[in-house]
Amino acid sequence: DYKPGGYHPASRGELYNNGRYILVRKLGWGHFSTVWLAKDTVSNAHVAMKVVRSDKVYTEAALDEIKLLKRVSSSDGFLEGFCEASKHILSLLDNFTHTGPNGKHVVMVFEVLGENLLALIKKYEHRGIPTMYVKQIAKQLLLGLDYMHRKCGVIHTDIKPENVLMEVGDVEAIVKMVELLDKQKRDQRKVHRRATRTSIETPTATAVSSRSSTSGSRERVSGRRLRRHTLITGSQPLPSPLSSTNFFEIKAQMMGQSLPRPMPTTPKTNVSAGEEEQATNSLSSMEISNTTGDDRTEEELRTDSDVIQVKIADLGNACWFDEHYTNSIQTREYRSPEVIIGCEWGASADIWSAACLIFELLTGDFLFEPDEGHSYSKDDDHIAQIVELLGEIPSQLLRTGRHARSFFNSRGQLRNISKLKFWPLKDVLREKYKFPEEEAQTISEFLLPMLRLNPSERADAGGMVNHPWLNDTVGLEGVQLSERQLYGSGADIPGWYREVAGHPRH
Ligand code: ATP
Ligand code: MG
Ligand code: MG
Repeated sequence: DYKPGGYHPASRGELYNNGRYILVRKLGWGHFSTVWLAKDTVSNAHVAMKVVRSDKVYTEAALDEIKLLKRVSSSDGFLEGFCEASKHILSLLDNFTHTGPNGKHVVMVFEVLGENLLALIKKYEHRGIPTMYVKQIAKQLLLGLDYMHRKCGVIHTDIKPENVLMEVGDVEAIVKMVELLDKQKRDQRKVHRRATRTSIETPTATAVSSRSSTSGSRERVSGRRLRRHTLITGSQPLPSPLSSTNFFEIKAQMMGQSLPRPMPTTPKTNVSAGEEEQATNSLSSMEISNTTGDDRTEEELRTDSDVIQVKIADLGNACWFDEHYTNSIQTREYRSPEVIIGCEWGASADIWSAACLIFELLTGDFLFEPDEGHSYSKDDDHIAQIVELLGEIPSQLLRTGRHARSFFNSRGQLRNISKLKFWPLKDVLREKYKFPEEEAQTISEFLLPMLRLNPSERADAGGMVNHPWLNDTVGLEGVQLSERQLYGSGADIPGWYREVAGHPRH
Protein backbone atom coordinates (compact mmCIF):
# COMPACT_ATOMS: atom_id res chain seq x y z
CA ASP A 1 0.00 0.00 0.00
CA TYR A 2 3.06 2.27 0.26
CA LYS A 3 3.36 2.59 -3.50
CA PRO A 4 2.38 5.24 -6.08
CA GLY A 5 -1.28 6.07 -5.49
CA GLY A 6 -1.12 4.63 -1.99
CA TYR A 7 -0.13 5.85 1.48
CA HIS A 8 2.59 8.45 1.94
CA PRO A 9 5.77 7.03 3.53
CA ALA A 10 5.94 9.63 6.30
CA SER A 11 8.92 9.89 8.60
CA ARG A 12 9.77 11.50 11.91
CA GLY A 13 10.89 15.11 11.55
CA GLU A 14 9.38 15.48 8.08
CA LEU A 15 8.03 18.98 7.35
CA TYR A 16 4.54 19.71 5.99
CA ASN A 17 2.77 22.78 4.58
CA ASN A 18 5.92 24.83 3.98
CA GLY A 19 7.48 23.79 7.25
CA ARG A 20 4.51 24.65 9.48
CA TYR A 21 4.03 21.09 10.78
CA ILE A 22 6.75 18.72 12.01
CA LEU A 23 5.82 15.04 12.05
CA VAL A 24 6.30 13.25 15.39
CA ARG A 25 4.80 9.74 15.33
CA LYS A 26 1.95 7.60 14.05
CA LEU A 27 -1.47 7.74 15.78
CA GLY A 28 -3.48 5.32 13.68
CA TRP A 29 -4.54 4.39 10.21
CA GLY A 30 -7.61 3.51 8.23
CA HIS A 31 -8.58 2.41 4.76
CA PHE A 32 -8.11 5.90 3.33
CA SER A 33 -5.21 7.31 5.25
CA THR A 34 -2.49 7.21 7.85
CA VAL A 35 -2.93 9.56 10.82
CA TRP A 36 0.08 11.21 12.47
CA LEU A 37 0.88 13.29 15.51
CA ALA A 38 2.62 16.50 14.44
CA LYS A 39 3.78 19.71 16.05
CA ASP A 40 2.26 22.90 14.71
CA THR A 41 5.05 25.47 14.83
CA VAL A 42 2.60 28.37 14.49
CA SER A 43 0.35 27.55 17.47
CA ASN A 44 3.13 25.60 19.19
CA ALA A 45 0.65 22.80 19.95
CA HIS A 46 0.33 19.24 18.72
CA VAL A 47 -2.16 18.27 16.02
CA ALA A 48 -3.39 15.10 14.29
CA MET A 49 -2.58 14.98 10.57
CA LYS A 50 -4.60 12.67 8.31
CA VAL A 51 -2.55 11.96 5.18
CA VAL A 52 -4.81 10.46 2.51
CA ARG A 53 -3.75 7.91 -0.12
CA SER A 54 -2.91 9.67 -3.36
CA ASP A 55 -5.10 7.74 -5.84
CA LYS A 56 -7.78 9.79 -7.60
CA VAL A 57 -10.72 8.08 -5.85
CA TYR A 58 -9.25 8.69 -2.41
CA THR A 59 -8.39 12.28 -3.30
CA GLU A 60 -11.92 12.98 -4.52
CA ALA A 61 -13.48 11.38 -1.44
CA ALA A 62 -11.13 13.43 0.74
CA LEU A 63 -12.17 16.67 -0.99
CA ASP A 64 -15.85 15.84 -0.24
CA GLU A 65 -14.89 15.02 3.35
CA ILE A 66 -13.21 18.43 3.63
CA LYS A 67 -16.34 20.24 2.36
CA LEU A 68 -18.48 18.43 4.94
CA LEU A 69 -15.91 19.05 7.68
CA LYS A 70 -15.81 22.74 6.84
CA ARG A 71 -19.58 22.89 7.16
CA VAL A 72 -19.62 21.30 10.62
CA SER A 73 -16.44 23.03 11.80
CA SER A 74 -17.70 26.49 10.96
CA SER A 75 -17.88 28.87 13.85
CA ASP A 76 -21.56 29.74 13.13
CA GLY A 77 -22.47 27.15 15.73
CA PHE A 78 -21.29 29.53 18.38
CA LEU A 79 -23.39 32.35 16.99
CA GLU A 80 -26.61 30.42 16.63
CA GLY A 81 -27.06 28.66 19.93
CA PHE A 82 -25.27 25.42 19.02
CA CYS A 83 -22.29 26.32 21.14
CA GLU A 84 -22.37 23.19 23.33
CA ALA A 85 -23.24 20.92 20.41
CA SER A 86 -20.55 21.93 17.92
CA LYS A 87 -17.93 21.04 20.55
CA HIS A 88 -18.86 17.39 20.05
CA ILE A 89 -17.75 17.12 16.45
CA LEU A 90 -14.10 16.76 15.52
CA SER A 91 -13.15 20.04 13.88
CA LEU A 92 -10.88 20.56 10.91
CA LEU A 93 -8.07 23.01 11.64
CA ASP A 94 -6.29 23.13 8.29
CA ASN A 95 -6.00 21.30 4.97
CA PHE A 96 -3.44 21.30 2.17
CA THR A 97 -1.72 18.92 -0.26
CA HIS A 98 1.63 17.29 0.29
CA THR A 99 3.74 15.84 -2.52
CA GLY A 100 5.81 12.74 -1.86
CA PRO A 101 7.28 9.78 -3.77
CA ASN A 102 3.80 8.19 -4.11
CA GLY A 103 2.07 11.27 -5.48
CA LYS A 104 0.02 14.19 -4.23
CA HIS A 105 -1.75 13.57 -0.92
CA VAL A 106 -4.62 15.51 0.59
CA VAL A 107 -3.80 16.29 4.22
CA MET A 108 -6.38 17.20 6.88
CA VAL A 109 -5.32 18.65 10.21
CA PHE A 110 -7.38 18.04 13.37
CA GLU A 111 -7.09 18.52 17.07
CA VAL A 112 -5.52 15.48 18.77
CA LEU A 113 -8.04 13.10 20.33
CA GLY A 114 -7.68 9.84 22.18
CA GLU A 115 -9.08 6.39 21.74
CA ASN A 116 -12.43 5.51 20.27
CA LEU A 117 -15.41 4.08 22.16
CA LEU A 118 -14.71 0.51 21.07
CA ALA A 119 -11.55 0.69 23.17
CA LEU A 120 -13.68 1.80 26.13
CA ILE A 121 -16.12 -1.07 25.54
CA LYS A 122 -13.16 -3.47 25.53
CA LYS A 123 -11.73 -1.85 28.64
CA TYR A 124 -14.88 -2.96 30.44
CA GLU A 125 -14.51 -6.42 28.90
CA HIS A 126 -17.80 -6.18 26.99
CA ARG A 127 -19.75 -6.13 30.27
CA GLY A 128 -21.07 -2.60 29.80
CA ILE A 129 -19.75 0.81 30.75
CA PRO A 130 -21.05 2.38 34.01
CA THR A 131 -24.30 4.25 33.40
CA MET A 132 -22.80 7.53 34.57
CA TYR A 133 -20.38 7.50 31.63
CA VAL A 134 -22.95 6.21 29.17
CA LYS A 135 -25.18 9.19 29.96
CA GLN A 136 -22.34 11.62 29.31
CA ILE A 137 -21.48 9.98 26.01
CA ALA A 138 -25.14 9.68 24.94
CA LYS A 139 -25.99 13.31 25.68
CA GLN A 140 -22.91 14.63 23.90
CA LEU A 141 -23.51 12.35 20.92
CA LEU A 142 -27.13 13.51 20.64
CA LEU A 143 -26.12 17.17 20.91
CA GLY A 144 -23.54 16.65 18.16
CA LEU A 145 -26.03 14.87 15.89
CA ASP A 146 -28.71 17.51 16.49
CA TYR A 147 -26.23 20.17 15.35
CA MET A 148 -25.19 18.14 12.29
CA HIS A 149 -28.78 17.41 11.23
CA ARG A 150 -30.56 20.65 12.04
CA LYS A 151 -27.88 23.28 11.58
CA CYS A 152 -25.51 21.75 9.01
CA GLY A 153 -27.76 19.51 6.88
CA VAL A 154 -25.11 16.80 7.19
CA ILE A 155 -25.81 13.08 7.71
CA HIS A 156 -22.91 11.07 9.18
CA THR A 157 -24.14 7.64 7.96
CA ASP A 158 -21.53 5.69 9.93
CA ILE A 159 -22.21 6.24 13.61
CA LYS A 160 -20.53 3.42 15.56
CA PRO A 161 -18.13 3.12 18.51
CA GLU A 162 -15.01 3.33 16.31
CA ASN A 163 -16.06 6.71 14.97
CA VAL A 164 -16.64 8.43 18.30
CA LEU A 165 -13.35 9.48 19.87
CA MET A 166 -12.62 10.47 23.45
CA GLU A 167 -10.85 13.68 24.31
CA VAL A 168 -7.62 13.34 26.23
CA GLY A 169 -7.67 16.54 28.21
CA ASP A 170 -4.17 17.93 28.39
CA VAL A 171 -2.74 16.88 25.03
CA GLU A 172 0.65 18.42 25.66
CA ALA A 173 1.02 16.46 28.90
CA ILE A 174 0.14 13.21 27.17
CA VAL A 175 2.53 13.95 24.32
CA LYS A 176 5.23 14.54 26.88
CA MET A 177 4.56 11.16 28.50
CA VAL A 178 4.55 9.45 25.15
CA GLU A 179 7.80 11.09 24.11
CA LEU A 180 9.32 9.85 27.33
CA LEU A 181 8.13 6.33 26.68
CA ASP A 182 9.39 6.49 23.10
CA LYS A 183 12.77 7.65 24.27
CA GLN A 184 12.86 4.97 26.92
CA LYS A 185 12.20 2.38 24.24
CA ARG A 186 14.87 3.79 21.94
CA ASP A 187 17.39 3.82 24.78
CA GLN A 188 16.52 0.25 25.70
CA ARG A 189 17.15 -0.76 22.11
CA LYS A 190 20.48 1.06 22.16
CA VAL A 191 21.53 -0.72 25.35
CA HIS A 192 20.37 -4.00 23.86
CA ARG A 193 22.31 -3.40 20.67
CA ARG A 194 25.42 -2.51 22.60
CA ALA A 195 25.05 -5.61 24.74
CA THR A 196 24.58 -7.98 21.83
CA ARG A 197 27.35 -6.22 19.83
CA THR A 198 25.35 -6.53 16.69
CA SER A 199 26.02 -4.32 13.73
CA ILE A 200 22.58 -4.86 12.19
CA GLU A 201 20.29 -1.85 12.59
CA THR A 202 16.83 -2.54 14.04
CA PRO A 203 13.94 -0.40 12.80
CA THR A 204 13.26 2.74 14.78
CA ALA A 205 10.05 3.30 16.72
CA THR A 206 8.70 5.54 13.97
CA ALA A 207 9.41 3.29 11.00
CA VAL A 208 6.54 3.72 8.59
CA SER A 209 6.22 0.02 8.06
CA SER A 210 4.87 -0.46 11.57
CA ARG A 211 1.25 -0.92 10.51
CA SER A 212 -0.36 -1.10 13.91
CA SER A 213 -3.72 0.59 14.03
CA THR A 214 -5.14 1.92 17.25
CA SER A 215 -8.62 1.16 16.01
CA GLY A 216 -8.08 -2.57 15.79
CA SER A 217 -10.33 -5.21 14.36
CA ARG A 218 -13.69 -6.16 15.76
CA GLU A 219 -13.42 -9.49 17.40
CA ARG A 220 -16.37 -10.06 19.67
CA VAL A 221 -17.37 -12.48 22.36
CA SER A 222 -19.27 -15.19 20.57
CA GLY A 223 -22.40 -16.87 21.82
CA ARG A 224 -23.82 -13.68 23.29
CA ARG A 225 -26.34 -12.94 20.61
CA LEU A 226 -29.72 -11.62 21.44
CA ARG A 227 -31.74 -13.91 19.26
CA ARG A 228 -32.23 -17.66 19.40
CA HIS A 229 -30.06 -17.88 22.45
CA THR A 230 -30.88 -18.80 25.93
CA LEU A 231 -30.41 -16.42 28.76
CA ILE A 232 -27.00 -16.16 30.29
CA THR A 233 -27.85 -16.97 33.89
CA GLY A 234 -25.92 -16.14 37.02
CA SER A 235 -24.82 -12.67 38.02
CA GLN A 236 -22.18 -10.93 35.96
CA PRO A 237 -19.13 -9.55 37.74
CA LEU A 238 -19.26 -5.82 38.35
CA PRO A 239 -17.23 -3.73 35.92
CA SER A 240 -14.14 -2.17 37.38
CA PRO A 241 -14.48 1.57 37.88
CA LEU A 242 -12.74 3.83 35.40
CA SER A 243 -9.94 4.83 37.71
CA SER A 244 -7.63 7.66 36.86
CA THR A 245 -4.88 5.13 36.20
CA ASN A 246 -7.15 3.30 33.80
CA PHE A 247 -8.04 6.46 32.01
CA PHE A 248 -4.43 7.38 31.84
CA GLU A 249 -3.70 4.06 30.22
CA ILE A 250 -6.37 4.82 27.65
CA LYS A 251 -4.66 8.08 26.91
CA ALA A 252 -1.25 6.50 26.52
CA GLN A 253 -2.72 3.84 24.28
CA MET A 254 -4.06 6.51 21.98
CA MET A 255 -0.53 6.95 20.82
CA GLY A 256 -0.30 3.30 19.84
CA GLN A 257 1.79 2.73 22.92
CA SER A 258 1.46 -0.43 24.95
CA LEU A 259 0.26 0.09 28.51
CA PRO A 260 2.73 2.34 30.26
CA ARG A 261 4.57 1.01 33.24
CA PRO A 262 4.52 3.27 36.28
CA MET A 263 7.28 5.75 35.75
CA PRO A 264 9.65 7.14 38.36
CA THR A 265 9.19 10.82 39.11
CA THR A 266 12.87 11.18 39.87
CA PRO A 267 15.68 9.59 37.91
CA LYS A 268 16.69 7.17 40.65
CA THR A 269 13.94 5.03 42.08
CA ASN A 270 14.27 1.35 42.70
CA VAL A 271 16.55 0.52 39.87
CA SER A 272 19.11 -2.19 40.02
CA ALA A 273 22.71 -1.35 39.26
CA GLY A 274 22.50 -2.43 35.66
CA GLU A 275 19.38 -0.42 34.93
CA GLU A 276 20.49 2.68 36.76
CA GLU A 277 22.53 4.14 33.95
CA GLN A 278 19.66 3.73 31.54
CA ALA A 279 17.10 5.32 33.87
CA THR A 280 19.39 8.24 34.53
CA ASN A 281 20.01 8.73 30.85
CA SER A 282 16.43 8.49 29.70
CA LEU A 283 14.49 10.18 32.46
CA SER A 284 16.58 13.00 33.77
CA SER A 285 14.39 15.93 34.74
CA MET A 286 16.51 18.09 32.48
CA GLU A 287 15.42 16.10 29.46
CA ILE A 288 11.82 16.04 30.65
CA SER A 289 11.61 19.79 30.76
CA ASN A 290 13.45 20.06 27.48
CA THR A 291 10.89 18.06 25.53
CA THR A 292 7.86 20.28 26.00
CA GLY A 293 8.94 22.93 28.44
CA ASP A 294 6.53 21.41 30.96
CA ASP A 295 7.98 20.43 34.32
CA ARG A 296 4.99 18.86 36.08
CA THR A 297 5.54 15.53 37.80
CA GLU A 298 3.94 12.33 36.65
CA GLU A 299 1.39 12.51 39.49
CA GLU A 300 0.32 15.94 38.34
CA LEU A 301 0.07 14.72 34.77
CA ARG A 302 -2.19 11.90 35.86
CA THR A 303 -4.90 13.88 37.60
CA ASP A 304 -8.11 13.36 35.69
CA SER A 305 -11.64 14.44 36.31
CA ASP A 306 -14.59 12.08 35.91
CA VAL A 307 -15.87 13.95 32.87
CA ILE A 308 -15.62 12.08 29.73
CA GLN A 309 -15.75 14.24 26.62
CA VAL A 310 -16.41 12.69 23.22
CA LYS A 311 -16.42 13.90 19.65
CA ILE A 312 -17.98 12.47 16.51
CA ALA A 313 -15.19 11.77 14.00
CA ASP A 314 -14.60 10.33 10.52
CA LEU A 315 -16.88 12.20 8.15
CA GLY A 316 -15.40 10.10 5.35
CA ASN A 317 -18.81 8.54 4.61
CA ALA A 318 -20.98 11.55 5.42
CA CYS A 319 -23.33 13.22 2.94
CA TRP A 320 -25.78 16.11 2.63
CA PHE A 321 -29.52 16.22 3.39
CA ASP A 322 -30.03 17.02 -0.31
CA GLU A 323 -27.16 15.02 -1.82
CA HIS A 324 -26.66 11.38 -0.95
CA TYR A 325 -23.59 9.76 -2.51
CA THR A 326 -24.73 6.13 -2.18
CA ASN A 327 -27.51 3.99 -0.72
CA SER A 328 -25.02 1.50 0.71
CA ILE A 329 -24.57 3.22 4.02
CA GLN A 330 -23.89 2.30 7.65
CA THR A 331 -21.81 -0.50 9.17
CA ARG A 332 -23.80 -3.75 9.35
CA GLU A 333 -24.66 -3.87 13.07
CA TYR A 334 -25.78 -0.21 13.10
CA ARG A 335 -27.74 -0.35 9.82
CA SER A 336 -31.31 0.88 9.95
CA PRO A 337 -34.30 -1.17 8.67
CA GLU A 338 -35.11 1.33 5.89
CA VAL A 339 -31.58 0.94 4.49
CA ILE A 340 -31.66 -2.87 4.67
CA ILE A 341 -35.03 -3.01 2.92
CA GLY A 342 -34.00 -0.40 0.35
CA CYS A 343 -36.43 2.40 1.22
CA GLU A 344 -35.74 6.12 1.20
CA TRP A 345 -33.60 7.26 4.10
CA GLY A 346 -32.34 10.45 5.70
CA ALA A 347 -30.77 11.92 8.84
CA SER A 348 -33.00 9.66 10.98
CA ALA A 349 -30.75 6.73 9.96
CA ASP A 350 -28.07 8.23 12.25
CA ILE A 351 -30.52 8.12 15.17
CA TRP A 352 -31.04 4.37 14.68
CA SER A 353 -27.27 3.83 14.77
CA ALA A 354 -26.95 6.07 17.84
CA ALA A 355 -29.51 3.95 19.72
CA CYS A 356 -27.61 0.76 18.76
CA LEU A 357 -24.42 2.38 19.99
CA ILE A 358 -25.91 3.47 23.33
CA PHE A 359 -27.30 -0.04 23.95
CA GLU A 360 -23.83 -1.42 23.25
CA LEU A 361 -22.22 0.98 25.72
CA LEU A 362 -24.70 -0.11 28.39
CA THR A 363 -24.36 -3.85 27.83
CA GLY A 364 -21.10 -4.44 25.93
CA ASP A 365 -23.04 -6.40 23.29
CA PHE A 366 -24.25 -5.43 19.83
CA LEU A 367 -27.98 -4.70 19.80
CA PHE A 368 -28.24 -6.60 16.51
CA GLU A 369 -25.60 -9.07 15.39
CA PRO A 370 -26.88 -10.77 12.26
CA ASP A 371 -25.33 -13.85 10.77
CA GLU A 372 -26.15 -15.95 7.74
CA GLY A 373 -27.33 -19.55 7.92
CA HIS A 374 -27.97 -22.43 5.49
CA SER A 375 -31.34 -21.11 4.43
CA TYR A 376 -31.19 -17.39 5.22
CA SER A 377 -28.97 -14.39 4.51
CA LYS A 378 -27.48 -11.85 6.90
CA ASP A 379 -30.17 -9.40 5.86
CA ASP A 380 -32.90 -11.98 6.60
CA ASP A 381 -31.41 -12.58 10.03
CA HIS A 382 -31.03 -8.85 10.65
CA ILE A 383 -34.68 -8.16 9.84
CA ALA A 384 -35.76 -11.12 11.98
CA GLN A 385 -33.80 -9.78 14.96
CA ILE A 386 -35.35 -6.33 14.46
CA VAL A 387 -38.88 -7.78 14.34
CA GLU A 388 -38.25 -9.89 17.45
CA LEU A 389 -37.19 -6.82 19.41
CA LEU A 390 -39.44 -4.13 17.97
CA GLY A 391 -42.40 -5.75 16.24
CA GLU A 392 -43.67 -5.99 12.66
CA ILE A 393 -42.08 -3.93 9.89
CA PRO A 394 -44.57 -1.16 8.95
CA SER A 395 -46.43 -1.79 5.71
CA GLN A 396 -45.15 1.47 4.25
CA LEU A 397 -41.57 0.15 4.34
CA LEU A 398 -42.72 -3.13 2.80
CA ARG A 399 -44.48 -1.24 0.00
CA THR A 400 -41.62 1.11 -0.86
CA GLY A 401 -38.53 -1.03 -0.17
CA ARG A 402 -36.62 -1.97 -3.33
CA HIS A 403 -35.56 -5.26 -1.73
CA ALA A 404 -38.77 -5.92 0.22
CA ARG A 405 -39.91 -8.68 -2.19
CA SER A 406 -36.78 -10.73 -1.65
CA PHE A 407 -37.27 -10.75 2.15
CA PHE A 408 -41.05 -10.84 2.54
CA ASN A 409 -43.87 -12.80 0.94
CA SER A 410 -47.18 -11.23 -0.11
CA ARG A 411 -48.57 -11.61 3.41
CA GLY A 412 -45.66 -9.56 4.79
CA GLN A 413 -44.02 -12.57 6.44
CA LEU A 414 -40.32 -13.27 6.20
CA ARG A 415 -39.70 -15.78 3.42
CA ASN A 416 -36.70 -17.54 4.90
CA ILE A 417 -37.14 -17.40 8.68
CA SER A 418 -40.33 -18.57 10.29
CA LYS A 419 -40.19 -19.08 14.03
CA LEU A 420 -39.71 -15.66 15.59
CA LYS A 421 -39.40 -15.20 19.32
CA PHE A 422 -40.67 -11.81 20.45
CA TRP A 423 -38.45 -10.41 23.22
CA PRO A 424 -39.12 -6.73 24.02
CA LEU A 425 -36.22 -4.44 24.86
CA LYS A 426 -37.28 -3.86 28.45
CA ASP A 427 -37.33 -7.61 29.14
CA VAL A 428 -33.97 -8.10 27.43
CA LEU A 429 -32.44 -5.43 29.68
CA ARG A 430 -34.01 -6.95 32.79
CA GLU A 431 -33.65 -10.65 32.06
CA LYS A 432 -30.45 -10.87 30.09
CA TYR A 433 -28.52 -7.87 31.41
CA LYS A 434 -29.92 -7.82 34.96
CA PHE A 435 -30.92 -4.16 35.01
CA PRO A 436 -33.32 -3.46 37.89
CA GLU A 437 -36.96 -3.26 36.76
CA GLU A 438 -37.22 0.52 37.01
CA GLU A 439 -33.95 1.21 35.21
CA ALA A 440 -34.82 -1.26 32.46
CA GLN A 441 -38.11 0.58 32.01
CA THR A 442 -36.44 4.01 31.81
CA ILE A 443 -33.69 2.91 29.43
CA SER A 444 -36.19 1.22 27.17
CA GLU A 445 -38.37 4.35 27.16
CA PHE A 446 -35.26 6.29 26.19
CA LEU A 447 -34.12 3.96 23.40
CA LEU A 448 -37.40 2.90 21.78
CA PRO A 449 -38.35 6.29 20.22
CA MET A 450 -34.94 6.25 18.47
CA LEU A 451 -35.65 2.73 17.22
CA ARG A 452 -38.99 3.54 15.60
CA LEU A 453 -39.12 1.38 12.48
CA ASN A 454 -40.73 4.08 10.40
CA PRO A 455 -37.99 6.69 9.85
CA SER A 456 -40.47 9.56 9.53
CA GLU A 457 -41.71 8.80 13.05
CA ARG A 458 -38.26 8.37 14.60
CA ALA A 459 -37.40 10.76 17.45
CA ASP A 460 -34.85 13.43 16.63
CA ALA A 461 -31.58 13.92 18.50
CA GLY A 462 -32.49 17.34 19.90
CA GLY A 463 -35.74 16.10 21.46
CA MET A 464 -33.98 13.12 23.04
CA VAL A 465 -31.47 15.47 24.72
CA ASN A 466 -34.46 16.50 26.90
CA HIS A 467 -35.10 12.96 28.16
CA PRO A 468 -35.36 12.63 31.98
CA TRP A 469 -32.78 9.79 31.91
CA LEU A 470 -30.19 12.40 30.86
CA ASN A 471 -31.21 15.05 33.40
CA ASP A 472 -28.45 14.19 35.84
CA THR A 473 -25.70 13.79 33.22
CA VAL A 474 -22.44 14.88 34.85
CA GLY A 475 -21.22 18.11 33.29
CA LEU A 476 -24.46 18.68 31.32
CA GLU A 477 -27.01 18.76 34.15
CA GLY A 478 -28.99 21.77 33.06
CA VAL A 479 -28.64 21.30 29.31
CA GLN A 480 -32.06 21.14 27.57
CA LEU A 481 -33.18 22.14 24.08
CA SER A 482 -36.41 24.05 24.60
CA GLU A 483 -37.04 24.33 20.85
CA ARG A 484 -37.26 20.53 20.46
CA GLN A 485 -39.97 18.29 21.87
CA LEU A 486 -39.16 15.16 23.87
CA TYR A 487 -40.22 12.07 21.85
CA GLY A 488 -41.20 14.34 18.95
CA SER A 489 -40.30 13.06 15.49
CA GLY A 490 -37.70 14.91 13.43
CA ALA A 491 -40.00 14.93 10.40
CA ASP A 492 -39.88 18.76 10.31
CA ILE A 493 -36.09 18.63 9.72
CA PRO A 494 -35.30 18.82 5.98
CA GLY A 495 -33.99 15.48 4.72
CA TRP A 496 -35.10 13.61 7.86
CA TYR A 497 -36.47 10.54 6.07
CA ARG A 498 -35.61 11.14 2.42
CA GLU A 499 -33.18 13.02 0.25
CA VAL A 500 -34.45 16.51 -0.46
CA ALA A 501 -34.84 16.95 -4.21
CA GLY A 502 -33.33 19.91 -5.99
CA HIS A 503 -30.01 21.02 -7.35
CA PRO A 504 -27.50 20.82 -4.55
CA ARG A 505 -24.29 22.78 -5.03
CA HIS A 506 -21.95 21.79 -2.25
P1 ATP B 1 -11.67 4.43 7.83
O1 ATP B 1 -11.17 3.15 7.25
O2 ATP B 1 -12.23 4.23 9.21
O3 ATP B 1 -12.58 5.22 6.93
P2 ATP B 1 -9.83 6.65 7.58
O4 ATP B 1 -8.63 6.42 6.71
O5 ATP B 1 -10.92 7.52 7.05
O6 ATP B 1 -10.34 5.28 8.09
P3 ATP B 1 -9.95 7.75 10.24
O7 ATP B 1 -10.98 6.77 10.66
O8 ATP B 1 -10.36 9.19 10.15
O9 ATP B 1 -9.24 7.30 8.88
O10 ATP B 1 -8.67 7.65 11.21
C1 ATP B 1 -7.92 6.46 11.33
C2 ATP B 1 -7.48 6.27 12.77
O11 ATP B 1 -6.57 7.32 13.13
C3 ATP B 1 -8.60 6.35 13.79
O12 ATP B 1 -9.19 5.09 14.01
C4 ATP B 1 -7.86 6.83 15.04
O13 ATP B 1 -7.22 5.74 15.67
C5 ATP B 1 -6.79 7.73 14.48
N1 ATP B 1 -7.22 9.13 14.50
C6 ATP B 1 -7.98 9.76 13.58
N2 ATP B 1 -8.20 11.04 13.89
C7 ATP B 1 -7.56 11.24 15.05
C8 ATP B 1 -7.41 12.39 15.92
N3 ATP B 1 -7.94 13.56 15.64
N4 ATP B 1 -6.67 12.23 17.04
C9 ATP B 1 -6.12 11.04 17.33
N5 ATP B 1 -6.22 9.94 16.58
C10 ATP B 1 -6.93 10.02 15.45
MG1 MG C 1 -12.94 5.47 10.77
MG1 MG D 1 -13.02 7.26 6.91
